[in-house]
Amino acid sequence: VIAVIPVRGGALPLGADEAIAECGGHVLLIGESCRTAAAAIAARTHSVRVTEVGSFAPAGWAEALASIVAEHAIVLFPASPDGRDLAPHLAHALGRPLWAGAARVTPDEIVASRHGGRALLTAPVDEPIVATLIPGVRAVETAAGKLEPTIDELPLAIPTRPAASVVGLLRPLGATMDLADAPRIVAGGAGLGSEETFGRLADLAGRLDASVGATRVVVDRGWTPHSRQIGTTGAVVAPELYLAFGISGAVQHLSGVEPATHTIAVNLDPSCPMMTAADLAVVSDAPAVLEALIEELATPAPREASPHA
Ligand SMILES: Cc1cc2nc3c(=O)[nH]c(=O)nc-3n(C[C@H](O)[C@H](O)[C@H](O)COP(=O)(O)OP(=O)(O)OC[C@H]3O[C@@H](n4cnc5c(N)ncnc54)[C@H](O)[C@@H]3O)c2cc1C
Repeated sequence: VIAVIPVRGGALPLGADEAIAECGGHVLLIGESCRTAAAAIAARTHSVRVTEVGSFAPAGWAEALASIVAEHAIVLFPASPDGRDLAPHLAHALGRPLWAGAARVTPDEIVASRHGGRALLTAPVDEPIVATLIPGVRAVETAAGKLEPTIDELPLAIPTRPAASVVGLLRPLGATMDLADAPRIVAGGAGLGSEETFGRLADLAGRLDASVGATRVVVDRGWTPHSRQIGTTGAVVAPELYLAFGISGAVQHLSGVEPATHTIAVNLDPSCPMMTAADLAVVSDAPAVLEALIEELATPAPREASPHA
């Protein structure tokens, strides 16, 4: 079993830690500045293989990777945008089935999420496979002391594929980014009071580089489309930061927010489930706090006072 992690500019993608943990620390980093990325997983593994191959090129990478991962019965990618792109290319190059959207992978068994997360399918692993692991499905243990993993460089020649090349890279917009991939989410519920106030979440999201989420009540009122809904009948999210404005935290909503999230809730009711589940619970008027935050983040940070002033 091996985790293959595509790296851009030395940064690990969403779900990398979990894919590495699922593979017992066996990992290959491929992409740009992999040594920088290797430092970020130092507490997770004893050895890392890295291959510096430059910018993302899924077809060429898959062809080159096929020979070096063929010995592994299971090749696992995080289901990040690049992982989801690279996995089918590699499955094709290896002539293996692809299991997309796994929730658990063991050498004997795979559990895959189906029907938008409403069903789990369990199947035996009785042939070599390629799979993607959904971010947020498992905890990741950190070693007590700092491990000093050995780093092995793996030279890899990437065949050029002029038919498919990256012509540019656009940063995702919070308003349109897939909620499941968003590292930060600002979400609103009925407590925001109106469609207009809900719309102000996009201004805050823009300032925090975050995506906008909503409860079902808000979606049912037509304030935002269903693609923004979080919960049992919406998206399952695993951001690093979840800011909830005027959300009661019904079980159908909270079941869509992975527990590892750092949560800040703003609500008038200190005892509602969203507030009790939050790391920081702010008992206040949600529209007012939203406006104050937008204003605060619009103001440039004050310069440090000069010692001669
Ligand atoms: C089968 C089924 C599936 C469902 N699936 C989902 C789902 O996927 N996602 C989902 O979200 N819901 C889902 N629901 C609905 C869910 O049960 C709740 O009704 C919903 O999550 C509540 O949304 P809310 O928090 O916006 O509204 P409410 O429950 O009405 O809560 C509003 C909150 O705002 C607070 N508030 C009011 N005024 C202010 C103010 N001025 N300042 C601050 N706080 C204020 C209140 O104290 C309250 O806590 C589902 C329900 C069913 C039956």
